[in-house]
Amino acid sequence: MKASIGILELLAELAAIGEDPHGGVTRLLYDSAWRQAQQAAARMMADAGLAVSIDEVGNVYGRLAGSDAEALHVLTGSHMDTVPCGGRYDGALGIAAGIAALSELQFKYGQPRRTLEVVSFCEEEGSRFPLAYWGSGNVTGSKSFDGALEAKDSEGISLREAMVEAGFDPDAHRRSRRTDIGIYIELHIEQGEVLERSQCEIGVVDAICGQRRYFVDIQGRSGHAGTTPMAIREDALAAGAEMIVWLRKAGVEHGDGLVATVGKLDVSPNIANVIPDKVRFSVDIRHRDEAVITAFCERTFQAFEVTAAQHNVLISKSCWLSEHPAPMNAAIQERMARIAEDKGYSHMTVTSGAGHDAGLFASQCACAMIFVPSQGGISHSPLEYTAPDAIVRGTDVLTELLYQLAYVEESHEAI
Ligand SMILES: [Zn+2]
Repeated sequence: MKASIGILELLAELAAIGEDPHGGVTRLLYDSAWRQAQQAAARMMADAGLAVSIDEVGNVYGRLAGSDAEALHVLTGSHMDTVPCGGRYDGALGIAAGIAALSELQFKYGQPRRTLEVVSFCEEEGSRFPLAYWGSGNVTGSKSFDGALEAKDSEGISLREAMVEAGFDPDAHRRSRRTDIGIYIELHIEQGEVLERSQCEIGVVDAICGQRRYFVDIQGRSGHAGTTPMAIREDALAAGAEMIVWLRKAGVEHGDGLVATVGKLDVSPNIANVIPDKVRFSVDIRHRDEAVITAFCERTFQAFEVTAAQHNVLISKSCWLSEHPAPMNAAIQERMARIAEDKGYSHMTVTSGAGHDAGLFASQCACAMIFVPSQGGISHSPLEYTAPDAIVRGTDVLTELLYQLAYVEESHEAI
């Protein structure tokens, strides 16, 4: 039997693959750094004594077979791809921690009762092709992916071509679907600064926020900046500016974890001495409760209508993204908090404002996420950093949780 493998060494090795000359790490779906990283993950899993397999889309699994062949499997892991010039921890942490955890459990306790698996998902970020969750979306079957194979990257290469180039059969992607997963656990960096500001070591995630994104279009009337009296203007930007300020205030006043953002603004004709006749801006609203999102959106667009009428402009909106919130399993959250307590780690409940692979499993099986602090909340950046002791604590909680779920007989009855 092999000795267990350390999390920090595994993570350092993954972080070195795809180092970008512009800083950080770049591993895009099916590119050469990605291939090298997935091969490294497969080798690490094999070194940990796990049975390795690679599915039709390039998800890499390491399996520790359980004695109860009937029991649904316990899966842990995260995604191997990054954004361009991304951080060393986003995604890679969950994979390295999963390998380290299974290695340690096998070394200490041998065969589990339930089969334990670690996965390195091929893609989550949506950074190469205009689609996301190509890994967990295929495994859970929860994304339609109609027409996805024809999606093109910035160089005009289709997903189909990229798959063939990397040695995969594009038309077989749906065969990567799994129906034998009973529990999914993901360790991830927080990518925010709630834990750090609270000086808290472990985040027990209660839900992944739902989100709605809109474009708001305002149609006014352009005119000469010098000759059009203020009283008769139909200024699309003045109206839009009031709406944006209203949204910010309403978001702050709402509290309870709701976030509302305008991140994109287009002004036409965008000339200093012309009154703008067209404005388009984005609205991104997130909360853990769907009903709250719906109510807030309704209130927002009612307020926008009033503002539009005051400015004598027309307003229209289009919703282009709507994702449901993904609640995490309550029994596993309690168990995780107890584990952190027993180990003397400070912990708190947090809601994930960002999407994760775990969100796709939440409607299909018992699902949980562990967060560790991100320094300054920085992520998707070469400056992303999580301290080694924080990584060790997170891996420690993950390992104990997997132990309780896969080895201890009575524990899974609670799930
Ligand atoms: Zn991630």
